[in-house]
Amino acid sequence: MLKINENFAKLPGSYLFAEIARRTAAYSAEHPEADLIKLGIGDVTQPLPPAVISAMHRASDEMGSAETFRGYGPYEGYDFLREAIVRHDYAPFGAPITKDDIFVSDGAKSDCGNIGDLFSDDTVVAVCDPVYPVYVDSNAMSGRAGDWDGKRWTNIVYLPCNEQNGFMPELPVRTPDVIYLCFPNNPTGAVATKAQLKIWVDYARRNDALILYDAAYREYITEPDIPHSIYEIEGAAECAIEFCSFSKTAGFTGTRCGYTTIPAGLERDGQKLADVWLRRQSTKFNGTAYIIQRAAEAVYTEQGEREYKALITYYMNNARVIREGLRAAGLTVYGGVNSPYVWAKTPDGVPSWDFFDRLLREANVVTTPGAGFGPEGEGFIRMTGFGDAERTKLAVSRVQSILK
Ligand SMILES: *Cc1c(COP(=O)(O)O)cnc(C)c1O
Repeated sequence: MLKINENFAKLPGSYLFAEIARRTAAYSAEHPEADLIKLGIGDVTQPLPPAVISAMHRASDEMGSAETFRGYGPYEGYDFLREAIVRHDYAPFGAPITKDDIFVSDGAKSDCGNIGDLFSDDTVVAVCDPVYPVYVDSNAMSGRAGDWDGKRWTNIVYLPCNEQNGFMPELPVRTPDVIYLCFPNNPTGAVATKAQLKIWVDYARRNDALILYDAAYREYITEPDIPHSIYEIEGAAECAIEFCSFSKTAGFTGTRCGYTTIPAGLERDGQKLADVWLRRQSTKFNGTAYIIQRAAEAVYTEQGEREYKALITYYMNNARVIREGLRAAGLTVYGGVNSPYVWAKTPDGVPSWDFFDRLLREANVVTTPGAGFGPEGEGFIRMTGFGDAERTKLAVSRVQSILK
């Protein structure tokens, strides 16, 4: 008789965004007249840059002609895109990354979730708390997280990120084999300086640990001297894999393209991690669509760069409106400077879900309860700059009026 992977039964119920959707739908059903503004979910709202659309049209035409038609592409992505990635994302700061280290995919979520295929079952995994749920749940599905005790997984090493440590994890007591880091951070909006990242790179090298670095928000960095890639840190090519995505950079959430960087010299247990990843990808993945890879390539053209930067400026202006508006309403807020996420402390220590409900009912604004990202997120809510500019201003003024 078929038995289902028992690890799925261990996963706690109701995924965060499903619960938000449920409460929002229930409120809308009771109050059909309510004009809800959704600043909760981390999805972009503005259309793709025109340079990307033109490239997709051109590539579609190529697919319609026998001379230029493409079937299966290389598992690791087309060289035109891998070369553009190195030229734009790594060469400017002299990172020791070549096109052979780049693996194009359908997005960073798949790669963050699939990378665990490379590691043995007894691998000890460390994550930040609060955290992007994919890192934790994908390890739980493969049995590496232990058991869910109602708050945490028994075998995961949690790295608390809170006001006391400025949302920057401290080195753990129990040494992990794998450490997930994400900067600029979702959900807290925190960024790591070079000195802060160097501590982690040195630690990983000393302990033979591997850093899995999620740089999905690298293009949202506005302040100087904040690293856009872990490979800006000396020695990182010997201890880190990096995940990047066109989703937040250029509005590809529905178009799907990202890439993972695994330096050729990165070895563990006598094997090159890039070789093992290629073996995994060539078995379970048949490449990103040619049309989409041409679309991603266009992000790196002069026009594409100008256009995606304008999109980011639009979202970051929303983040500023939220950050300043909530602060003026008396809340303590973090993030929103090098990240589209604003991480706001609830008033008077109210639990996250209670404040979520209050904002939903009294301001008709949908947020994300911080507690949904981990126990250290309790007492916070997350708001995103990904909405419409006018609606964002309206949402902030509604929140201000209920907090008066
Ligand atoms: C949005 C996001 C991604 C990107 O996911 P895609 O699958 O590329 O759309 C990756 N990591 C984090 C932390 C994110 O918030």
